[in-house]
Amino acid sequence: SFLSFLGVIGHFEGRTLLVSTAFGQSTVLGYPRIGGNRELKKAVEAYWAGKIDADALASTAAGLRAEVWQTLRDAGLSAIPSNTFSYYDHVLDTAVAVGAIPTRFTRLGLSELDTYFAMARGVDAEPALELTKWFDTNYHYLVPEIGPDTIFAANPVKALSEVAEAADLGITTRPVLVGPATFLLLAKGEDPFARLDDLVDVYAQILAVLAASGVAWVQLDEPAYVADRTPEEIDGLRRAYRRLGELTDRPRLFVATYFGELGDALPALLDTPVEAVGLDLVAGPGNLDRLAAAGPLAGRTIVAGLVDGHNIWRTDLRAAATLGGRVAALADHVVVSTSCSLLHVPVDLAAEQDLEPQLYSRLAFARQKVDEVVTLGTAVRNGTGELPAPLPPVPPAWRHDAVRARLAELGPQDRRRADYATRAAAQQARLNLPELPTTTIGSFPQTTELRKARAELRTGAVDWPGYVERMRAEVEHVIRLQEELGLDVLVHGEPERNDMVQYFGEQLDGFAATEHGWVQSYGSRCVRPPIIYGDVARKAPMTVEWSTYAQSLTHKPVKGMLTGPVTILAWSFVRTDQPLADTADQVALALRDECADLEAAGIKVIQVDEPALRETLPLRKAEQKAYLDWAVGAFRLATSGVADDTQVHTHLCYSEFGEVITAIDALDADVTSIEASRSKMEVLDDLAAIGYGRGVGPGVWDIHSPRVPSHDEVVESLRRAVAAVPARRLWVNPDCGLKTRGYAEVEASLRHLVAAAAEVRGI
Ligand code: GLN
Ligand code: ZN
Repeated sequence: SFLSFLGVIGHFEGRTLLVSTAFGQSTVLGYPRIGGNRELKKAVEAYWAGKIDADALASTAAGLRAEVWQTLRDAGLSAIPSNTFSYYDHVLDTAVAVGAIPTRFTRLGLSELDTYFAMARGVDAEPALELTKWFDTNYHYLVPEIGPDTIFAANPVKALSEVAEAADLGITTRPVLVGPATFLLLAKGEDPFARLDDLVDVYAQILAVLAASGVAWVQLDEPAYVADRTPEEIDGLRRAYRRLGELTDRPRLFVATYFGELGDALPALLDTPVEAVGLDLVAGPGNLDRLAAAGPLAGRTIVAGLVDGHNIWRTDLRAAATLGGRVAALADHVVVSTSCSLLHVPVDLAAEQDLEPQLYSRLAFARQKVDEVVTLGTAVRNGTGELPAPLPPVPPAWRHDAVRARLAELGPQDRRRADYATRAAAQQARLNLPELPTTTIGSFPQTTELRKARAELRTGAVDWPGYVERMRAEVEHVIRLQEELGLDVLVHGEPERNDMVQYFGEQLDGFAATEHGWVQSYGSRCVRPPIIYGDVARKAPMTVEWSTYAQSLTHKPVKGMLTGPVTILAWSFVRTDQPLADTADQVALALRDECADLEAAGIKVIQVDEPALRETLPLRKAEQKAYLDWAVGAFRLATSGVADDTQVHTHLCYSEFGEVITAIDALDADVTSIEASRSKMEVLDDLAAIGYGRGVGPGVWDIHSPRVPSHDEVVESLRRAVAAVPARRLWVNPDCGLKTRGYAEVEASLRHLVAAAAEVRGI
């Protein structure tokens, strides 16, 4: 099983390309494109701000691409991807490559680059494409808008020019595109998938152009097939790749899948002439049995995703090599790869100076994972003799026996409160709230001064007491503003929080923060997820001083504000040596103690945010119930230790909630505030349909947009809400926290919100 390294000559823009037809033994499905110091973010934002021109942006981008290709080559990788760079998002790039630019953007008459950014970010006249989660990662892609009228047209320029750019550096690459079936399954519009055959024609044209330029391999990503798909959708996959496979002038086809098991789509894909199939053997270990059951794989290359692209732990190289050996026994040719693109992990562990050695030695970021892939590629081909044994996952110092003992003793009573009627009566007696109480979700604008204060604390320019003083001044300002506006349940505004997960991670045992561990979330937005490496334990109260200070300033109730266990896990890198459910319960115990301390300090309302409840939902239906059981269980463990007359709120956003609506009910929060303004309050019908009978605050103001909702709009939303939920259970609040907004919009919008509530109360 050895492919020859025969050279093929191709041409692009008059240049001659020397292209190898061999895949070799190691590759990655993609690599971070933001740069080690977020150079791309800085350049793109400078371009948007008019501080640099398109040429300057292009040259930064070219530099970043060159650095990635050279890094991958120098690491010894035998096959290198290209077209994995993006100014904003690779799904948007694919939309451009197939000409799927909605006319509402083409008619703006902007340059190509600015049309692209208009689709990504919107312009005054046109809202952007919708942004949504990329499978079960924290990356967000732009949703293509495809309808019966979409005119597809091949535009292979970006893919070709990246190949040519790499070739100029002497590096042969394999361009990557989102595959046609996944592209349509990710799109929205009137039955996008019905356009598959038209779209495949355009892919055929792209492939022909790439082949004519000497491109030997193309990678087409079809991750949509690791989720449940209908027989028609699986047929579509087969049809698409048969058609593309039958082309005479085309590069070899590598269809990559990732984030789980392919299931019935694997035999369908193997029923086509594609030369290589990529399988995620980390998130989808069952792919191996499927492959074994698939029958002869003669002439086929299997790209085995053995190194986790979705988490930051070092690979157990021995175990991975054994797995690779099993694949090698089944297939003609095996290439070792990452389980998915390395887009989802930070760039380089070597940049971290402050991680404790025990932890550092257990981590691998993108750059280190490339080395692992190279090592495994050789090992799978030549035998596994030299590989190091893995380190034990959790050294004794990271264990917390007290936390483990507590968890072992938990029973059902630790996740249960009194019945809602009893609680509601006790809470109303204590809080004495009006009908349609008004509140906000927690954060107030994160002003430049606040960010500056935090930066100064980091550099030592301001000391802790000085910092606290500035934050307290902000809390006081936020409390006074809310009193002046006439809100009923107040918040302290979260000025002290850099991020709703990081803030807790920094204070809990078992969490580590990185200095440079940035990961692209969407566009120029990057996040630095904490690493949960050991048992989680609370060292001391985390929020009590801020909340009690805020409460001391007002007679109105101030909500304590915590981030829930599921969201803390979802936005961190998690340990893989124990079930997620156990880690969630450890976090929940820390939050339970925090709730008890808040309550003891006189806080009457506590909100525990779970915006990520829906986004961590497993892609396959069969796995969803088990997830929701532990997710709900952890939330209840965190929140059920309080007295009947302490009111527990939760907050959910960033998604549609259809699939988790019964789980939302099962959280048993007294009040659920939920994103609703963009979906016109539809979530209230869904909640009514399952008999949800506790407090609910559907967002009446879309805080994702700087637009101030008018008084009448809020009244209209509220009237729609009152039709679906009895007024005594209805709360009035925005869709989400206000940290990204400015004070001018916040004041005006909240004024409208309070006045609208008063008007609707009147009837
Ligand atoms: N309490 C948080 C805030 O207001 C909630 C943020 C969120 O839902 N993402 O900022
Ligand atoms: Zn929110």
